This record gives sequence, structure tokens and C-alpha cells, in this order.
Amino acid sequence: MRDSFLSFSPPLIGEEEINEVVQTLRSGWLTTGPRAKQFEQDFAQFIGADAALAVHSGTHAMLVGLAALGIGHGDEVITTPMTFCSTVHVIEQLGARPVLVDIEPETLNIDPREVARAVCPRTRAVMPVHLYGHPCEMDAILDIAARHGLYILEDAAHALPARYKGRMVGTLGTLTAFSFYATKNLTTGEGGMLTGSASIIEQARTWSLHGMSRGAYQRNTAEGSWYYEVVLPGFKCNMTDIQAALGLQQLKKLPQFQQRRKEIVRRYSQALAEYEELQIPVERAEVESAWHLYPVRLNLDRLTIDRARFIEELRARNIGSSVHFIPIHVQLYYRDKYGYKPQDFPVAYDNYLRLVSLPLNLRMTDSDVEDVLEAVADVLAEHRR
Ligand SMILES: *Cc1c(COP(=O)(O)O)cnc(C)c1O
Repeated sequence: MRDSFLSFSPPLIGEEEINEVVQTLRSGWLTTGPRAKQFEQDFAQFIGADAALAVHSGTHAMLVGLAALGIGHGDEVITTPMTFCSTVHVIEQLGARPVLVDIEPETLNIDPREVARAVCPRTRAVMPVHLYGHPCEMDAILDIAARHGLYILEDAAHALPARYKGRMVGTLGTLTAFSFYATKNLTTGEGGMLTGSASIIEQARTWSLHGMSRGAYQRNTAEGSWYYEVVLPGFKCNMTDIQAALGLQQLKKLPQFQQRRKEIVRRYSQALAEYEELQIPVERAEVESAWHLYPVRLNLDRLTIDRARFIEELRARNIGSSVHFIPIHVQLYYRDKYGYKPQDFPVAYDNYLRLVSLPLNLRMTDSDVEDVLEAVADVLAEHRR
């Protein structure tokens, strides 16, 4: 057994990021400036998106994205219960109604057939979440959206970089939100990016910065640089140049980061496929997953312990793990407001009870990976039925 604790997802920050942050601090530009602008351009180019807006978090990318689409009171937005709470919070915060639908058993992504069934005259948008980095069934979702005139705002917090049928996630729906939180595939500590068409991104930019529009003085410089117009009751979630400094350097390393993730995933899947007690994650032929997480599902009928105990047993062997996610419909606020029961979304709930995410991060050495496998083998050997 290893003698030190293996953290679940520590960030990997190199000298390049540190130097870029120090240069930023010396430059005099702390808040949104040249580095934020450069990061937006580099990111849009990397994705192949028309335009990008850098903000303070992935959550804010979704919030200003929905606001820019005009989503508000009386509107419904269809999304998945198998996500982080903020996907659903942003809908709620804008006064719209989140409509949850169940997920596909294979990928745990939103089920397009359930989306089609939930569309009604109040539906304005669909928010698919590319869970664990595996793209959703986008052709089916795009088709539903086209037939009913709906927007698509993708939660791609896990899906940088990911491809669906050769196309990069970030170029598929109306808007796509990425997160650069400390545990994500690319990190700026806190941070996020919204990609989409230039016109919607400019509207989202106004929402992200107090609803201030510089349009008037850009057109009429006689007004002077002190002049601005407030056209919306906007939020305040612009990205700072300090965050962007991290992002600029992390983006350069992303291809090599992804290679390493895939190496770890290959080793995990090769070693874990043999266990009848586990179900390993899939990558469908038509996609390239970003492999943000490596969730295994326990076949509980083959074990004498439950998921919580499995996590404790890993911890006792110095291996950190986690659960992604506790479904939204069992969280108190949503359960009570909408009267949800666990079995309202049986695929989400039943899989939740079986999910454990194993460590998958860029700080792991090959021997750390073997330590995880050894710990899993040991727990299974001790607790198989
Ligand atoms: C991390 C995450 C978010 C939120 O991103 P922040 O940058 O922390 O706001 C949203 N959705 C999912 C699925 C996430 O994992």
C-alpha cells in the first residue's frame, strides 16, 4: 500500500504559467486587458469558434450565455439531473424554469428522446452537459432544436478538448460554456469561456460587464473616453489578466496534457475491464472524449459493500476518489421546489448509487496509476460477493 495520500485532482502549474503571472503583475494591467483579449483569440482559434468571451467562471459563462439569449421569466430550459448544480442554478437565477429529463445508461449524458418528449411551447433552450468529457448525442439534439426553434447552450466544463463526429465541442450548438476551475483539464484557478457567434458573444460581453456598452463612444469619439451607456442590468464576471496569464500558457500545453490523460485512461481501462464487479466508462466510435474524469460504476449485486464504503476503503489505502454527480433532483432546493422523487429519473438515480470517479490528473506518475489499480484490486478481492 502507498504511504502518502494520492489527491483526487490537484492542478499542474508550471514555471511558464508562474512567469506569465509575474509579468502580468509587473505590467500594470490587473483586470481585463491585453492578456484576456489574447486568451479569447487563442481559445477561439484552438476551438475553431467564431468568437469567445472570457469570464470569471464556467458558471458565469452559462449565466451570461442564457442572458444573451434572452432567457428569463416564463421560459423553460431542458437539462440533465446528472450535472453540477450550477448548470441548473443559472436557469433558476434568471427566473426561468429548469426542466430535467433522464439520461442515457451508456454515457450518462442527456437522452435526446427524453428531450424531445419534454419540449413544449414555453421551451426556449436545451442545455446538454458533455459529462466526463464525452460529447452528448448532438445530431439528435441539434435536430430537435432546429425543429422547434430552440437554442442550445452546452455545458462543456468537462469537454475541453472533445470532438463529436470530427467537430470540436465549442462549435456545435448556439453557445458553449467551458470552465477553467482548478480541477478542470485547463485551469486559470477560477475562470470560464463562452464560445459562439460574434453577435451573441458581444451581447454576452455586455451582460458580463455591468451591462455597459461602449458602442456610443466608439461611434462618436467626440464624447470622450469617460462616456459609456448602460443598456442592461448586467453582471460583473469579466476575466482578469492574471487569470488569462495562466490560461494562455495552459492552452499551449493542452495537447500534451490530453495525451497524458489518454495514457492513464488506456491503462485504467486495460486493467479494469476484467472485473465483473465494475463497469468501465465508454468512448463511442464517433467521438473523442476529453476524459476529464474516469468514473467507474460498481456492480453492487456482486459486492458486499456499497459505494460509500468502497470510497472509504480506497481512502484507507491512501487513494482519493469522488462522485460525479449527486443528481440535482435529490438536492434539497430542487427536490422541495419541484417535488421530485429519486425515481423520477431512474437512470440518473440508480447510476448515482454506483458511481465512483478514480483519480485522473496530470500530476499522477505511472506508479501512482498502478497504486490506484492495486488499491481497487485489493478492495474488490476483499469485498466481492
Ligand atoms: C465545474 C463545473 C461547472 C462549473 O464551473 P465553474 O467554473 O466552477 O463555475 C459547471 N458544470 C459542470 C458539469 C462542472 O463540472
